[in-house]
Amino acid sequence: MDKYLVFGNPIAQSKSPAIHQMFAEQTKQSMHYDKFLSNVDDFVKDIESFQLAGGKGANITAPFKEQAMEMCDQLSSRAQAAGAVNTLTFSKQGITGDNTDGVGLVNDLLAQQVVLAGTKVLLMGAGGASRGVILPLLAQNPEQLIIVNRTTEKAIQLAKRFDDPRLTVINFAETEKHSFDVIINATSASLSANLPALSANAITAHTVCYDMVYGKQLSPFLIWCQQQGAKQVIDGLGMLVGQAAESFYLWRKVNPDPLPIMQAIRNQLSA
Ligand code: NDP
Repeated sequence: MDKYLVFGNPIAQSKSPAIHQMFAEQTKQSMHYDKFLSNVDDFVKDIESFQLAGGKGANITAPFKEQAMEMCDQLSSRAQAAGAVNTLTFSKQGITGDNTDGVGLVNDLLAQQVVLAGTKVLLMGAGGASRGVILPLLAQNPEQLIIVNRTTEKAIQLAKRFDDPRLTVINFAETEKHSFDVIINATSASLSANLPALSANAITAHTVCYDMVYGKQLSPFLIWCQQQGAKQVIDGLGMLVGQAAESFYLWRKVNPDPLPIMQAIRNQLSA
């Protein structure tokens, strides 16, 4: 049976095995997917051992996405743009690295009827998740994609990688002077129940707010957005399932239907 693993640290909380097992059942694929706790010193060896043992592919999560990229023999353009990989495919040609996070986010936004073309989008955060979604967001033709980050210099360096006139940087104080159609929280602030220093002026009755973090309850950021009168708030579960669906497609060349799987994971979360 074809074998896949997700590598991360921590990894116990990962929903990826459950998601991929459901994709496999849905599309009648014979495969097994499990999680693997690695560490920075052993990561390369762990991947090589899995490949030697006949593994077909792997998902990579924090903190190994950059390290995994360095191991790849080929990289997709979206992995190059992201500077990180979350999907490895093993073949006779070696290791191919891809990054499906951005596609996962964009597909989720589009599935939830969020309009990106011609809109003004704010992307909060300048870490790995933010970097991975910039190219797929720009591909949806927003009028403006503005990055804001606690450490502004990091956002400036990030924007320089893309060299696109629609992509600009502001600091959190300046969010007072703007309002946005779509606001995407790609910071890890919600993980520690913190709010990014976003001005309430940034949100109008037309604003859609997205948090990449997901959980049993809405994140503090999404609750705050609701209180400011946002039109719609969406958590990152759809992105998680969407990036998994794209990895599954890369490996199996079959498109799973993410919606029922998203609902099943949502039910597990609230159980
Ligand atoms: P990184 O550690 O690479 O980056 C963290 C980012 O958050 C930085 O920009 C950092 O700013 C910012 N930040 C952290 N704390 C705060 C705070 N209190 N206020 C404002 N900004 C803050 O993380 P990732 O980019 O890998 O991940 C970001 C989030 O996205 C995580 O919560 C992760 O769980 C989620 N994620 C969800 C996915 C999904 O499928 N749903 C996929 C990938 C990620 P600074 O530069 O100033 O330190």
